[in-house]
Amino acid sequence: MFCPKCGAKNDDDGSYCSSCGQKLSEASKQTGPDLVLNVGQKNRIIAVILNFIFPGIGYWYWGYKKVLGINPILIFIGWILVTYFSNYLVFGLGLPFLALDLFLTYDLYVKTEGKPGWLEASK
Ligand SMILES: [Zn+2]
Repeated sequence: MFCPKCGAKNDDDGSYCSSCGQKLSEASKQTGPDLVLNVGQKNRIIAVILNFIFPGIGYWYWGYKKVLGINPILIFIGWILVTYFSNYLVFGLGLPFLALDLFLTYDLYVKTEGKPGWLEASK
C-alpha cells in the first residue's frame, strides 16, 4: 500500500508509514496514490506532434484505422515517397506540402478534442 501523505510504499499490514509516520487507514490500504498514471492512456500532444513530423502516423497512434478510406500507415508511406521524389523534381513544392502537413496536424488536433474534424476517419 502507499502512504496517503508522502506516497511511500509500505507493507500491506503496517499501521504507520515507515517513511513519515502517518497513520495508515484501511481506505488508503486499498487505493494507491493519485499520482499513478493510466499507462494505456494516449497523449493528445504526442498524437498531434507525431502527425506533424510523420503525417498519418498521428492518426494511427490515436487509433484511426482509416482516414479518407486509407490506412494511415499507407498515408505516411505515400507522403514520404511523394515528398522525397517531388523535392528532386520541383524545388519549391515544399511550401504546399508544409501547408498540407499543417492541415493534417490541425485536423487530428480537432479530432482529439472529440470533434469530427474535416477529414472522414474511422477507428
Ligand atoms: Zn508517509
